[in-house]
Amino acid sequence: MDTNSKGTALVTGASSGIGAVYAERLAERGYDLILVARRADRLSALAGRLRDSTGRRAEIFQADLSKAEDLARVEQRVIEDDSLTLLVNNAGISLQGGVLENSSAAIAELIAVNVTAPSVLTASAIKRFLARDKGGVINIASVLALAPEILEGLYSGSKAHLLNLTRGVALHLKGTGVRIQAVLPGATKSEIWDKAGIDVDTALPGMVMETADLVDAALLGYDRGEVVTIPPLHDEEMYLAYDQHRLGMAEHLSKKEVAQRYRVA
Ligand code: NAP
Repeated sequence: MDTNSKGTALVTGASSGIGAVYAERLAERGYDLILVARRADRLSALAGRLRDSTGRRAEIFQADLSKAEDLARVEQRVIEDDSLTLLVNNAGISLQGGVLENSSAAIAELIAVNVTAPSVLTASAIKRFLARDKGGVINIASVLALAPEILEGLYSGSKAHLLNLTRGVALHLKGTGVRIQAVLPGATKSEIWDKAGIDVDTALPGMVMETADLVDAALLGYDRGEVVTIPPLHDEEMYLAYDQHRLGMAEHLSKKEVAQRYRVA
Protein backbone atom coordinates (compact mmCIF):
# COMPACT_ATOMS: atom_id res chain seq x y z
CA MET A 1 0.00 0.00 0.00
CA ASP A 2 1.23 3.49 -0.90
CA THR A 3 1.13 5.35 2.41
CA ASN A 4 2.33 8.61 0.85
CA SER A 5 -0.68 8.94 -1.46
CA LYS A 6 -3.36 11.48 -0.74
CA GLY A 7 -5.67 9.59 -3.04
CA THR A 8 -6.48 10.58 -6.59
CA ALA A 9 -7.22 14.05 -7.95
CA LEU A 10 -9.23 14.38 -11.15
CA VAL A 11 -8.35 17.64 -12.93
CA THR A 12 -10.42 18.79 -15.91
CA GLY A 13 -8.71 21.00 -18.47
CA ALA A 14 -5.29 19.71 -17.43
CA SER A 15 -3.77 20.01 -20.92
CA SER A 16 -2.72 23.65 -20.52
CA GLY A 17 -2.70 26.78 -18.37
CA ILE A 18 -4.08 26.74 -14.85
CA GLY A 19 -5.14 23.07 -14.99
CA ALA A 20 -1.66 21.88 -15.96
CA VAL A 21 -0.18 23.76 -12.99
CA TYR A 22 -2.80 22.26 -10.65
CA ALA A 23 -1.82 18.80 -11.90
CA GLU A 24 1.84 19.52 -11.18
CA ARG A 25 1.24 20.98 -7.73
CA LEU A 26 -1.13 18.18 -6.72
CA ALA A 27 1.34 15.49 -7.83
CA GLU A 28 4.01 17.25 -5.77
CA ARG A 29 1.60 17.15 -2.81
CA GLY A 30 1.23 13.37 -3.15
CA TYR A 31 -1.93 12.96 -5.23
CA ASP A 32 -2.22 10.46 -8.06
CA LEU A 33 -3.83 12.06 -11.07
CA ILE A 34 -6.55 11.63 -13.66
CA LEU A 35 -5.96 14.28 -16.30
CA VAL A 36 -9.01 15.19 -18.40
CA ALA A 37 -9.11 17.24 -21.63
CA ARG A 38 -9.47 16.82 -25.41
CA ARG A 39 -5.79 17.14 -26.43
CA ALA A 40 -4.45 13.69 -25.55
CA ASP A 41 -0.92 14.50 -26.79
CA ARG A 42 -0.61 17.34 -24.29
CA LEU A 43 -2.03 15.21 -21.49
CA SER A 44 0.37 12.35 -22.28
CA ALA A 45 3.39 14.64 -22.23
CA LEU A 46 2.33 16.14 -18.88
CA ALA A 47 1.50 12.75 -17.37
CA GLY A 48 4.89 11.35 -18.39
CA ARG A 49 6.73 14.35 -16.98
CA LEU A 50 4.85 14.17 -13.67
CA ARG A 51 5.37 10.42 -13.32
CA ASP A 52 9.11 10.97 -13.78
CA SER A 53 9.41 13.97 -11.48
CA THR A 54 7.10 12.88 -8.62
CA GLY A 55 6.67 9.10 -8.93
CA ARG A 56 2.90 9.55 -8.71
CA ARG A 57 0.46 7.73 -10.98
CA ALA A 58 -0.89 9.92 -13.76
CA GLU A 59 -3.58 8.65 -16.08
CA ILE A 60 -4.90 10.49 -19.08
CA PHE A 61 -8.63 10.59 -19.77
CA GLN A 62 -9.47 12.10 -23.13
CA ALA A 63 -12.93 13.66 -23.09
CA ASP A 64 -14.78 16.54 -24.70
CA LEU A 65 -16.85 17.98 -21.87
CA SER A 66 -19.15 19.77 -24.29
CA LYS A 67 -20.42 16.33 -25.36
CA ALA A 68 -23.02 14.63 -23.13
CA GLU A 69 -21.61 11.13 -23.71
CA ASP A 70 -18.07 12.20 -22.75
CA LEU A 71 -19.31 14.03 -19.67
CA ALA A 72 -21.21 10.87 -18.68
CA ARG A 73 -17.96 8.85 -18.95
CA VAL A 74 -16.12 11.28 -16.70
CA GLU A 75 -19.03 11.36 -14.25
CA GLN A 76 -19.06 7.55 -14.15
CA ARG A 77 -15.38 7.57 -13.26
CA VAL A 78 -16.05 10.08 -10.47
CA ILE A 79 -18.80 7.84 -9.10
CA GLU A 80 -16.90 4.55 -9.38
CA ASP A 81 -13.32 5.46 -8.46
CA ASP A 82 -13.02 4.88 -4.72
CA SER A 83 -9.51 6.36 -4.68
CA LEU A 84 -10.84 9.79 -5.74
CA THR A 85 -10.38 12.41 -3.02
CA LEU A 86 -10.22 15.65 -5.03
CA LEU A 87 -12.02 17.04 -8.08
CA VAL A 88 -10.73 20.18 -9.77
CA ASN A 89 -13.32 21.60 -12.18
CA ASN A 90 -10.95 23.76 -14.18
CA ALA A 91 -11.88 23.22 -17.85
CA GLY A 92 -13.42 26.37 -19.26
CA ILE A 93 -13.79 28.36 -22.45
CA SER A 94 -14.61 31.94 -23.34
CA LEU A 95 -16.13 33.39 -26.49
CA GLN A 96 -14.34 35.11 -29.33
CA GLY A 97 -16.26 38.37 -29.31
CA GLY A 98 -19.48 39.09 -27.46
CA VAL A 99 -22.57 36.95 -27.02
CA LEU A 100 -24.34 38.85 -29.81
CA GLU A 101 -21.57 38.02 -32.28
CA ASN A 102 -21.54 34.28 -31.58
CA SER A 103 -23.55 31.38 -32.98
CA SER A 104 -26.12 29.41 -31.00
CA ALA A 105 -23.70 26.46 -31.14
CA ALA A 106 -20.88 28.52 -29.56
CA ILE A 107 -23.23 29.73 -26.82
CA ALA A 108 -24.40 26.17 -26.10
CA GLU A 109 -20.81 24.91 -26.05
CA LEU A 110 -19.79 27.50 -23.47
CA ILE A 111 -22.73 26.59 -21.25
CA ALA A 112 -21.96 22.86 -21.62
CA VAL A 113 -18.28 23.23 -20.67
CA ASN A 114 -18.50 26.05 -18.11
CA VAL A 115 -21.87 25.30 -16.47
CA THR A 116 -23.24 21.81 -17.15
CA ALA A 117 -20.01 19.81 -16.79
CA PRO A 118 -18.78 21.32 -13.49
CA SER A 119 -22.30 21.23 -12.03
CA VAL A 120 -22.80 17.54 -12.84
CA LEU A 121 -19.31 16.57 -11.67
CA THR A 122 -19.59 18.64 -8.48
CA ALA A 123 -22.89 16.99 -7.53
CA SER A 124 -21.66 13.46 -8.21
CA ALA A 125 -18.32 13.98 -6.47
CA ILE A 126 -19.83 15.63 -3.38
CA LYS A 127 -22.34 12.81 -2.94
CA ARG A 128 -19.55 10.21 -3.16
CA PHE A 129 -17.31 12.20 -0.81
CA LEU A 130 -20.11 12.68 1.75
CA ALA A 131 -20.68 8.92 1.83
CA ARG A 132 -17.03 8.59 2.95
CA ASP A 133 -16.96 11.90 4.86
CA LYS A 134 -13.77 12.80 2.99
CA GLY A 135 -12.85 14.69 -0.14
CA GLY A 136 -12.84 18.08 -1.80
CA VAL A 137 -13.98 19.96 -4.89
CA ILE A 138 -12.21 23.00 -6.31
CA ASN A 139 -14.19 25.03 -8.85
CA ILE A 140 -12.27 27.48 -11.00
CA ALA A 141 -14.64 30.43 -11.46
CA SER A 142 -13.41 33.98 -12.20
CA VAL A 143 -13.44 37.47 -10.72
CA LEU A 144 -15.86 38.21 -13.57
CA ALA A 145 -18.47 36.40 -11.46
CA LEU A 146 -18.48 39.66 -9.51
CA ALA A 147 -17.98 41.98 -12.49
CA PRO A 148 -20.40 41.38 -15.39
CA GLU A 149 -19.48 44.77 -16.86
CA ILE A 150 -16.06 43.45 -17.88
CA LEU A 151 -15.89 41.39 -21.12
CA GLU A 152 -19.28 39.85 -21.90
CA GLY A 153 -22.14 38.49 -19.82
CA LEU A 154 -22.30 34.87 -20.97
CA TYR A 155 -18.81 33.97 -19.80
CA SER A 156 -19.08 36.01 -16.60
CA GLY A 157 -22.53 34.54 -15.99
CA SER A 158 -21.15 31.02 -16.29
CA LYS A 159 -18.57 31.89 -13.65
CA ALA A 160 -21.23 33.47 -11.40
CA HIS A 161 -23.09 30.17 -11.70
CA LEU A 162 -20.04 28.29 -10.49
CA LEU A 163 -19.60 30.70 -7.58
CA ASN A 164 -23.26 30.34 -6.56
CA LEU A 165 -23.11 26.56 -6.93
CA THR A 166 -20.05 26.39 -4.72
CA ARG A 167 -21.47 28.66 -2.04
CA GLY A 168 -24.78 26.80 -2.06
CA VAL A 169 -23.13 23.38 -1.75
CA ALA A 170 -20.77 24.65 0.96
CA LEU A 171 -23.77 25.25 3.22
CA HIS A 172 -24.48 21.49 3.16
CA LEU A 173 -20.91 20.56 4.07
CA LYS A 174 -20.61 22.28 7.45
CA GLY A 175 -19.50 19.81 10.09
CA THR A 176 -18.45 17.19 7.52
CA GLY A 177 -15.04 16.13 6.28
CA VAL A 178 -15.89 17.30 2.75
CA ARG A 179 -14.72 20.61 1.32
CA ILE A 180 -15.61 22.87 -1.58
CA GLN A 181 -13.83 25.99 -2.80
CA ALA A 182 -14.46 28.49 -5.59
CA VAL A 183 -11.31 30.12 -6.96
CA LEU A 184 -11.76 33.50 -8.62
CA PRO A 185 -8.72 34.28 -10.77
CA GLY A 186 -8.32 37.67 -12.36
CA ALA A 187 -6.54 37.90 -15.71
CA THR A 188 -4.02 35.06 -15.72
CA LYS A 189 -1.49 34.26 -18.43
CA SER A 190 -2.79 31.30 -20.43
CA GLU A 191 -3.98 30.15 -23.84
CA ILE A 192 -7.56 31.19 -23.08
CA TRP A 193 -6.67 34.73 -24.15
CA ASP A 194 -5.08 33.59 -27.44
CA LYS A 195 -8.24 31.61 -28.22
CA ALA A 196 -10.36 34.70 -27.51
CA GLY A 197 -8.14 36.69 -29.90
CA ILE A 198 -6.93 39.03 -27.14
CA ASP A 199 -3.28 39.98 -26.52
CA VAL A 200 -3.72 40.12 -22.76
CA ASP A 201 -0.39 41.76 -21.92
CA THR A 202 -1.23 44.65 -24.25
CA ALA A 203 -4.90 44.81 -23.26
CA LEU A 204 -4.25 44.68 -19.50
CA PRO A 205 -0.67 45.89 -18.93
CA GLY A 206 0.64 45.09 -15.45
CA MET A 207 -2.56 43.26 -14.50
CA VAL A 208 -1.87 39.70 -15.60
CA MET A 209 -0.94 37.05 -13.02
CA GLU A 210 1.34 34.09 -13.75
CA THR A 211 -0.48 30.72 -13.63
CA ALA A 212 1.95 29.33 -11.02
CA ASP A 213 1.35 32.30 -8.69
CA LEU A 214 -2.42 31.92 -9.12
CA VAL A 215 -2.45 28.20 -8.35
CA ASP A 216 -0.08 28.44 -5.38
CA ALA A 217 -2.22 31.19 -3.84
CA ALA A 218 -5.44 29.29 -4.53
CA LEU A 219 -4.07 26.14 -2.88
CA LEU A 220 -3.08 28.21 0.15
CA GLY A 221 -6.69 29.39 0.32
CA TYR A 222 -7.83 25.76 0.04
CA ASP A 223 -5.50 24.73 2.87
CA ARG A 224 -7.00 27.51 5.00
CA GLY A 225 -10.50 26.16 4.41
CA GLU A 226 -11.73 29.13 2.36
CA VAL A 227 -14.94 28.69 0.37
CA VAL A 228 -14.15 31.68 -1.85
CA THR A 229 -10.56 32.53 -2.77
CA ILE A 230 -9.69 35.63 -4.80
CA PRO A 231 -5.89 35.66 -5.29
CA PRO A 232 -5.66 39.04 -7.09
CA LEU A 233 -7.77 40.98 -4.57
CA HIS A 234 -5.28 42.69 -2.23
CA ASP A 235 -7.82 44.31 0.08
CA GLU A 236 -9.90 41.40 1.39
CA GLU A 237 -12.10 43.87 3.30
CA MET A 238 -13.62 44.98 -0.01
CA TYR A 239 -15.01 41.51 -0.65
CA LEU A 240 -16.06 40.97 2.97
CA ALA A 241 -17.94 44.29 3.04
CA TYR A 242 -19.60 43.52 -0.31
CA ASP A 243 -20.65 40.11 0.95
CA GLN A 244 -21.92 41.49 4.24
CA HIS A 245 -24.05 44.01 2.35
CA ARG A 246 -25.41 41.29 0.08
CA LEU A 247 -26.27 39.10 3.07
CA GLY A 248 -28.01 42.05 4.74
CA MET A 249 -30.23 42.45 1.66
CA ALA A 250 -31.06 38.72 1.44
CA GLU A 251 -33.74 38.75 4.16
CA HIS A 252 -35.56 41.55 2.31
CA LEU A 253 -35.78 39.81 -1.05
CA SER A 254 -39.07 37.92 -0.61
CA LYS A 255 -42.15 39.77 0.63
CA LYS A 256 -45.89 39.28 0.26
CA GLU A 257 -46.38 42.97 -0.50
CA VAL A 258 -45.15 44.56 -3.70
CA ALA A 259 -42.53 47.25 -3.05
CA GLN A 260 -44.06 50.73 -2.74
CA ARG A 261 -42.45 51.97 -5.97
CA TYR A 262 -44.22 49.28 -8.04
CA ARG A 263 -47.70 49.76 -6.59
CA VAL A 264 -50.22 50.63 -9.25
CA ALA A 265 -51.90 53.92 -8.39
P1 NAP B 1 -6.56 27.36 -21.12
O1 NAP B 1 -5.08 27.29 -21.08
O2 NAP B 1 -7.24 27.67 -22.41
O3 NAP B 1 -7.11 26.01 -20.51
C1 NAP B 1 -8.42 25.57 -20.69
C2 NAP B 1 -8.46 24.07 -20.45
O4 NAP B 1 -9.81 23.63 -20.61
C3 NAP B 1 -7.61 23.31 -21.44
O5 NAP B 1 -6.93 22.28 -20.78
C4 NAP B 1 -8.63 22.73 -22.41
O6 NAP B 1 -8.17 21.48 -22.91
C5 NAP B 1 -9.82 22.52 -21.48
N1 NAP B 1 -11.05 22.47 -22.26
C6 NAP B 1 -11.60 23.43 -23.03
N2 NAP B 1 -12.69 22.97 -23.64
C7 NAP B 1 -12.84 21.67 -23.26
C8 NAP B 1 -13.76 20.65 -23.57
N3 NAP B 1 -14.75 20.84 -24.44
N4 NAP B 1 -13.61 19.44 -23.00
C9 NAP B 1 -12.59 19.21 -22.13
N5 NAP B 1 -11.67 20.14 -21.80
C10 NAP B 1 -11.81 21.35 -22.36
O7 NAP B 1 -7.09 28.47 -20.12
P2 NAP B 1 -6.93 28.70 -18.54
O8 NAP B 1 -6.84 30.15 -18.35
O9 NAP B 1 -5.90 27.83 -17.95
O10 NAP B 1 -8.38 28.25 -18.07
C11 NAP B 1 -8.61 27.42 -16.95
C12 NAP B 1 -9.83 27.92 -16.19
O11 NAP B 1 -9.54 29.18 -15.61
C13 NAP B 1 -11.07 28.15 -17.08
O12 NAP B 1 -12.22 27.67 -16.42
C14 NAP B 1 -11.13 29.66 -17.20
O13 NAP B 1 -12.44 30.12 -17.43
C15 NAP B 1 -10.61 30.07 -15.84
N6 NAP B 1 -10.12 31.45 -15.74
C16 NAP B 1 -9.07 31.86 -16.50
C17 NAP B 1 -8.63 33.18 -16.39
C18 NAP B 1 -7.49 33.70 -17.22
O14 NAP B 1 -7.30 34.91 -17.30
N7 NAP B 1 -6.68 32.83 -17.80
C19 NAP B 1 -9.27 34.07 -15.51
C20 NAP B 1 -10.33 33.59 -14.76
C21 NAP B 1 -10.75 32.29 -14.86
P3 NAP B 1 -8.38 20.93 -24.40
O15 NAP B 1 -8.42 22.11 -25.33
O16 NAP B 1 -7.19 20.04 -24.61
O17 NAP B 1 -9.66 20.18 -24.35
